[in-house]
Amino acid sequence: MVFGFGKGKQETKAAAPAPAPAPAPAAAKPVAPGVASAAPSSIPRGIMSGQMQDWKLTVDKVIEHAHFNHGNREIVTRSVEGPIVRSTYSDLYFRARKCSNALLADGVQKGDRIATLAWNTARHIETWYGTMCIGAVLHTLNPRLFPEQIAWIINHAEDTHVFYDITFQPIVEAIKDKVPSVKHWIVLTDAAHKPQSSIPNLRTYEEYIGGQSTDVVWGDFPEDTACGLCYTSGTTGDPKGVLYSHRSNILHTMIGLQKDAIGIGAADTTLPVVPMFHANAWGLAFSGPATGSKLVLPGAKMDGESIYELLENEKVTFTAAVPTVWLMLLQYLESTGKKLPHLTRVVIGGSAVPERILRAFEENYQVEVVHAWGMTEMSPLGSLGSMTEGVLAQDHETIIKYKLKQGRAPFGVEMKTINDEGVLLPRDGKTAGRLVVRGPAVAKGYFKNAGGNILDDEGFFDTGDVANLDEFGYMQITDRAKDVIKSGGEWISSIDIENFAVGHPAVACAAAIGLPHPKWDERPLLIIELKPGQTASRDDLLNYLNGKIAKWWMPDDVVFTDKIPLGATGKINKLALRATFKDHKLPTIQAAE
Ligand code: AMP
Repeated sequence: MVFGFGKGKQETKAAAPAPAPAPAPAAAKPVAPGVASAAPSSIPRGIMSGQMQDWKLTVDKVIEHAHFNHGNREIVTRSVEGPIVRSTYSDLYFRARKCSNALLADGVQKGDRIATLAWNTARHIETWYGTMCIGAVLHTLNPRLFPEQIAWIINHAEDTHVFYDITFQPIVEAIKDKVPSVKHWIVLTDAAHKPQSSIPNLRTYEEYIGGQSTDVVWGDFPEDTACGLCYTSGTTGDPKGVLYSHRSNILHTMIGLQKDAIGIGAADTTLPVVPMFHANAWGLAFSGPATGSKLVLPGAKMDGESIYELLENEKVTFTAAVPTVWLMLLQYLESTGKKLPHLTRVVIGGSAVPERILRAFEENYQVEVVHAWGMTEMSPLGSLGSMTEGVLAQDHETIIKYKLKQGRAPFGVEMKTINDEGVLLPRDGKTAGRLVVRGPAVAKGYFKNAGGNILDDEGFFDTGDVANLDEFGYMQITDRAKDVIKSGGEWISSIDIENFAVGHPAVACAAAIGLPHPKWDERPLLIIELKPGQTASRDDLLNYLNGKIAKWWMPDDVVFTDKIPLGATGKINKLALRATFKDHKLPTIQAAE
């Protein structure tokens, strides 16, 4: 034993038979320097507080960091008025401070709700920080909802201000008399572009912040102060508000900045196509300034050509959006033969990534796809498809299979699957159950306590998704709990059927729903929207699926429709499809009768 400790122990043991000397009084015993005294400790036993600073986790820190460390880094906006507009993080910092002062001048107090109805632009981010940094709550409204739903949400939140883009003037005109709490309407433009409106005190944003000073106190509130409010799309029941705190937003930013998550850095140019009004643009309005990544904001234009122009001209390295956006871009690339020389990584989430999108990016354009899953209640990042060393050592086809899963939980997200009785399910990559989550950026309740307690005894939140987890921690969504097709006591994944069906070259969009069946409880109906000018028959589709999915998962029927309805966040509206096809008679019902 090199250090002699073991030896000393043995010697003591050997001397054991000798009676131990009576302990000398502590004060009398000379204590050699560096040797612990036998005197009672002055340090009380029990939990000891650390001695590190109370650096509050509030989002003003993010924009201050960007100003002081990345002040000249660019923010490029395709403005709603048309031209490309360039600003910097320092501009954002100062203009957000002016916005804070304008709000304070209106009498805004901590906790007041300030709404935005806006695309991803620099002005929109200014209103975020301008509001949040004085302790008011920034409430993003989803302009894709019907005006009545938007009015309902504003009334529920009791918003006092609405900042909106000129494109949304018709929505504002439709709701302005139905939202009594709103005292201030500010249109996010300048005097030259001010729209005609019957709102008497309508101000433009440039007017609003123009005369204000940049002197303001930010962050004078605790870190658990409410910071942002976003209502869930709620396919059933009323929409529910998720109320983020400063602390949860900062921790969510740090969760997102892990290499295996969003992982952007100062050398990146980031294009958040995913809207700020849908689940906070997956945190990119925070992680961009937190790292000094150049930000490129698409404004109102998300068609293939417009997105390509930004990717190419601004040399974007990182981008994020739902699959429908990427379908439009890929169609544009295919039709023009253009390439993606600068883009290295694309995060795709919000709904499952179809295999053909994954393969097109990775195999045709050498862009790494990271499949992500999350939800409004999770701020929203839940899992991301980062590759482990073990997976990367596999062959290409196996790697593709892992990439199609929804990914692994980053540090800061706990997830597990349970059955209806709450029993933990095995991580075998097969057994599907309710996906439940826990973490510092996960909701513990809804605004105004809508829906009551939403956590189980261990503090887990039921996501409403059905999923399996594998031995490497990869999670795979098999359905929304309410969309799963229950056939003969087993579950059929509507998502799996849809994913295979969209692989057919004539198919633009596919949806599978369960229809009542006297023998099996429910059986799948496949609904197909064909690409323009393409044809395919029921049998073509069934033959195509044959062998790709289990026999008992095969749809009992296939129907064609001009347009599969999408909800406000770009997801298939199954509620509408169920209503449309509720009287459709499956051919297998006659056979079973
Ligand atoms: P939202 O709160 O509107 O973002 O919706 C969250 C829901 O979208 C999740 O609970 C999932 O059902 C679905 N979702 C999000 N990402 C994915 C994904 N990558 N694959 C499948 N479903 C997804």
